[in-house]
Amino acid sequence: MTATTSTPLSHPANGRTASSSSSSSSTTLDAPLTNGSSAHKHAHAFATRAIHVGSEPELSISGGVSTPLDLSTTYRQTRVGEHKGFEYSRSANPTRLAYERLIASLEGADVLLAAALREQGVTDPAKFEAGPGGLAFASGSAATATAIQALAGQGGHIVSVGDVYGGTSRYQLKVAGPLQGVETTYVDMSYSTAGDGGEVESDEDQDQAIVDRVEQAIRPETKLIWAETPTNPCLSLVPIRLIAAVAKRHGVFLVIDNTFASPYLQQPLLLGADLVVASSTKYISGHSDVVGGLLATGNPAILSKVRFLQNAHGAVPSPFDAWLLIRSIKTLVLRTRQQSLNALALARYLEETAVPAGLVRDVRYPGLKRKRESPAQRRERELAWTQLSDDARRWLVREGYSVDGEGGFPAGGMVSFHIASASPASQTETQTAERFLEHLDVFTLAESLGGLEGLAELPLLMTHSGVDPEHRRKLGIDGELVRLSVGAEDVDDIVRDVAQGLAAAVGGKQ
Ligand SMILES: *Cc1c(COP(=O)(O)O)cnc(C)c1O
Repeated sequence: MTATTSTPLSHPANGRTASSSSSSSSTTLDAPLTNGSSAHKHAHAFATRAIHVGSEPELSISGGVSTPLDLSTTYRQTRVGEHKGFEYSRSANPTRLAYERLIASLEGADVLLAAALREQGVTDPAKFEAGPGGLAFASGSAATATAIQALAGQGGHIVSVGDVYGGTSRYQLKVAGPLQGVETTYVDMSYSTAGDGGEVESDEDQDQAIVDRVEQAIRPETKLIWAETPTNPCLSLVPIRLIAAVAKRHGVFLVIDNTFASPYLQQPLLLGADLVVASSTKYISGHSDVVGGLLATGNPAILSKVRFLQNAHGAVPSPFDAWLLIRSIKTLVLRTRQQSLNALALARYLEETAVPAGLVRDVRYPGLKRKRESPAQRRERELAWTQLSDDARRWLVREGYSVDGEGGFPAGGMVSFHIASASPASQTETQTAERFLEHLDVFTLAESLGGLEGLAELPLLMTHSGVDPEHRRKLGIDGELVRLSVGAEDVDDIVRDVAQGLAAAVGGKQ
């Protein structure tokens, strides 16, 4: 413990023996291909890394194929200062380190970090004192707080996407505001309202409208741009590459909350983001049984800063939670594929059957192809395709999907829509939506998302009840907006459940 406090930026897990074990793993699954133009490539595809990184049999003295769960809080030193890379479990724990290597690999932080370190003359990334490029936290909120503390500084300014996670805006306004003197400006970074013209706009004009809104919000003291995509609960998309270019031009960092997409579908670091934050409570856990968070970056300076704060705050997950998350990630690809297929089927039912029947309106699903779509909707669908990870896009192409295919393509497990109230009354009228939610049988009425079981909620009165009413109105969060986290149950049961819920809530009234 004393060693870590006296040398705050050093990662104790890079002592003699530990570095040999992590470098042996990094020569197999983790390793960037160092030759030629493949600086940003892994030796293995996402699905392979998700199963093997952090679970190398060499980590276990028995050769076990499951990561050893190391519950020790402290570690023997053979002589003063001589140890296997671990001193005290808050600072570094073998199970958590295995999980952090896995995060770094899935988000692509490891290859970016290796490349950045090579430029600084460091040839063995396993020796980098701040760790492997991924960091585990006790919750997504702890990761968010750490990122804002590290990057916004004292008296800095944040340009944030408007429909940011409620807990994130709470931290921006009520913690970073008073404690760091940080101001936050909220900006619409989506195509949904880009331009506002109503006329058919060129792609360039649509892009420029987003760039203009972000640039108008940037000040001399702006330190970072904070975005989330897809957003919550409206599932708008933010063009990461475009915003990353703006961030670069103005010398500010881009942070992307990758919770809703999960690293299988989207890897923001590879699209130009500087730091990824996510709540692993959602898709990464996938079983609604772990609260956790993560940060990932390929920038050595950012990594050192957040790593220092991780140890200083001590908001780390238990070794058992880290172990559970390693176990969860082994099925991330299978879960995400099935939940995305189910969500697309449900979105298509809503768009093609429930909308014409007058039961719902404004179905939101990133991959949905509508019969008639506005230029902004087309642009958003194209963005949903281009922003997919290479691995996810390869899967979709293999399955016969394309960016313009009829009906659309699977792109995540979240669907939201407005229920058609019998009397489209006030903004706060929730009766019809409540009736719908209470009639669901397969879906459980609950907050959160990403689990194998379908969850349904009413953002106005549940996840977004703390958001300023005027801000909520602007985002379109009213008493008719319903958010569904589609599970991996049988797809016919899922669609039938929503259909009977709508019939009970809306149908009977008409
Ligand atoms: C849940 C969530 C968070 C916060 O994570 P916790 O693990 O609940 O602290 C942050 N961002 C998004 C998008 C989330 O959905």
